[in-house]
Amino acid sequence: MVRMIPDPTGRFPRRPFYTEGELDRECEQIVRAFLTRRHGSVRFPITTDELGMLIEQEGADLDSSVDLSRYGADVEGVTAFVDGRHPLVMISDKLAEDGRRENRLRTTLSHEFGHVRFHRFLWADKLATQDLFAVRATSAEAVCKRETILNARKTDWMEWQAGYVSGAILMPAGAVRRLVGDYCSTHRIHGAIALTSDAARALVDAVQQGYQVSEEAARVRLLALGLLVDGSAPPSLFSP
Ligand SMILES: [Zn+2]
Repeated sequence: MVRMIPDPTGRFPRRPFYTEGELDRECEQIVRAFLTRRHGSVRFPITTDELGMLIEQEGADLDSSVDLSRYGADVEGVTAFVDGRHPLVMISDKLAEDGRRENRLRTTLSHEFGHVRFHRFLWADKLATQDLFAVRATSAEAVCKRETILNARKTDWMEWQAGYVSGAILMPAGAVRRLVGDYCSTHRIHGAIALTSDAARALVDAVQQGYQVSEEAARVRLLALGLLVDGSAPPSLFSP
């Protein structure tokens, strides 16, 4: 049962509250079950095609090369919810057509998966209770800009949740914790690993290689899991 709390952004009457641990557990379960069905075992990285399959498995349609410039120059993904139809995930053609941007394509696909899986019911409720003109006025779309694909302020809860899911799908928590645990026991490291240390650089590199993600995505994920600590960052003021 999803816990619902008031939505101070006013977008919905109430919004879902998920802890990091809840999102981690659900995402890891989804990915492990999916990969086991496909390969008979769990192996990383999950491929880019498989990320698209995960979206379709949730009952959404995927168009992976769309001109999204009408939403703004920095928009890389949009998930549109239309009453009575499958949600439609649209990925910017700028990502799809440029092989050098594959890591961004991967984080965007897994971010939009987050909207479909964790936010679809909200739009369904809203569309069911509003008249057609009101729905048109509020636009039932999650519009995702480049700078919040991985990490948004927690006050922007919808983007924050989708960003967290992006990391949790690409780099499932249990698997990443094992990788870091193995590294630490091999190198006899105890206690917190500072973001600026050599060990942190080695771990970011290992996560990049093992999960086919950008350096930034690996760093954000290791920090989010508390496996690296950034001594220079202020503590977070907001709850998820
Ligand atoms: Zn988004």
